[in-house]
Amino acid sequence: MNRAVAPEALLELAADAATRAYVPYSSFRVGAVAVDDDGNTHCGANIENAAYPATICAEANAITTAVAAGARRIATVAVVCLDGDLCTPCGNCRQIMREFGVETVILSTPEGEPLAMTLNELLPMSFGPEALDA
Ligand SMILES: [Zn+2]
Repeated sequence: MNRAVAPEALLELAADAATRAYVPYSSFRVGAVAVDDDGNTHCGANIENAAYPATICAEANAITTAVAAGARRIATVAVVCLDGDLCTPCGNCRQIMREFGVETVILSTPEGEPLAMTLNELLPMSFGPEALDA
């Protein structure tokens, strides 16, 4: 069963998740929500670390939370940045999205106009799981 969730509702969930970001170093709060193929939503926020490479992006947090809950396909990811302009996913998050089949990425700020993009637009000519199929 695939329950469609309105983009506005996804952006509200992502903005709410962003309020729980752990960002003592940058104060750059980002929230994300991953929608799995069953329509379940899984939220994440960015979580910084004093050892900067250990920082976790909101998108990765949301997707890995979904996968830990049993999801294997993510249809949509919505991302809201509370402290700046549109926050486009970093390269690592784009690759994580690719692994789990994300089709649509919706980007917004709290007051901004949402921008919906396909993952192929964000990560053209990407490497994915099918490349490793025997
Ligand atoms: Zn990222």
